[in-house]
Amino acid sequence: MQRHRKTSENRVAAAVPYAFLIGVAVGLAGCGPAAEQPAPEQPAAPASSVVAYEGARLIVGDGSAPIENGTFTVDDGSFVEVGASGAVAVPEGASRVDLSGMTVIPTIVDGHVHMSTTRDELIADLQRRAYFGVGAAISMGSDDLETPLEIRDEAIPDAARFLSAGLGITSPEPGRRVVHWVTTADEARQAVRDEAARDVDMIKIWVDDRDGQYDKLSPEIYGAVIEEAHANGIQVAAHIFSLEDGKGLLRAGVDVFAHGVRDRDIDQEFLDLVAERPEVVLVPNLPGRGVPTDLGWLAGTMPDEQLQALQATEADPAAQEAHGIQARNLARLSEAGMIVAFGTDGNTPWAPHVEMEDMVEAGMSPADVIVAATRNSAAALGLADMGTIEAGKSADFVVLEANPLDDITNTRRIASVYLRGVEVDREGIRSRLMN
Ligand SMILES: [Zn+2]
Repeated sequence: MQRHRKTSENRVAAAVPYAFLIGVAVGLAGCGPAAEQPAPEQPAAPASSVVAYEGARLIVGDGSAPIENGTFTVDDGSFVEVGASGAVAVPEGASRVDLSGMTVIPTIVDGHVHMSTTRDELIADLQRRAYFGVGAAISMGSDDLETPLEIRDEAIPDAARFLSAGLGITSPEPGRRVVHWVTTADEARQAVRDEAARDVDMIKIWVDDRDGQYDKLSPEIYGAVIEEAHANGIQVAAHIFSLEDGKGLLRAGVDVFAHGVRDRDIDQEFLDLVAERPEVVLVPNLPGRGVPTDLGWLAGTMPDEQLQALQATEADPAAQEAHGIQARNLARLSEAGMIVAFGTDGNTPWAPHVEMEDMVEAGMSPADVIVAATRNSAAALGLADMGTIEAGKSADFVVLEANPLDDITNTRRIASVYLRGVEVDREGIRSRLMN
């Protein structure tokens, strides 16, 4: 992850032409009627390329108290100054956008998704995410050899940034998606080298016997993966299920949990291991709560029948129990100070807004959940110029109609989304891609 992939700068600051006066009128006496001379003009002051966004409540994304009446300036795709209105210098000639009554948060960074693998569909997935305020997302191990990884280096209008864990590594799982199926440490190391050669952003492993169906990766093999990945300067994210594997992976040097422990409540030994590895990141990736959920806020973003089918979900006690284990584990780990980041799994562009609510239901504060979904998730993915509203960072932000610190579901009340300082064409995305 380490490698910071900088997308190309550009746009916004189109050069504003100066009005030049050419002194043609002088010295041409007798050559023609004065009426043909251009009317004299005043030279226009050079307009600034800076845009000032004024008056919003700013939630910076670092856990600090919100700036209740804030202003930030943006130039050439990046934040220039951020602070209380009045304390931020707005250059003469800057454009001004009035955001009073609004709340601004950084764009969400989704640290665990599985997106399409062809160029057009992948771009559509990234644009759907931008619609919902997501600024970057990483496909976690399900990209194939044809996936256009070069999209990572492109600044595609109206699209979230793309990152990829390439092709993940697991033991043979016939019937499931074919990735690197390895049975020895040597094969595992070769798989890592193959992915490193494609310059992936992370190595993904699955350590899960899928309810006893398969032999899962042994500690020897996942240890080899982690060692080889680190030798290549790449971090390892692990899909886990059991507490035992969670402990084994912590001992073996794993960097990121792509899910929490799911088979039981964690114990003191797990907490101790986490305390010894304070840099390890948890992507909670909670399962559904197993309760009927109001998804009416999605009206207009999908066909009505599809929304009705989603709304018809009934209470599911087994799902509630599974959710309960992971919610309790998240609450304990967050309380214990583990770094919590953010991910949703699957390919559902609006899922982050449900996940954030689930994380609050689990016991985290809305402020902590926003930090997890922005700064911590960006940091976990090595996105050094994302995750907070801060001078020098990419101007990626979401304008909300209400304060998510009061009610986390206010992250759904999106007025506008900006990526690299440019407003996302949400209506265009909605009409092209959602219906
Ligand atoms: Zn996944």
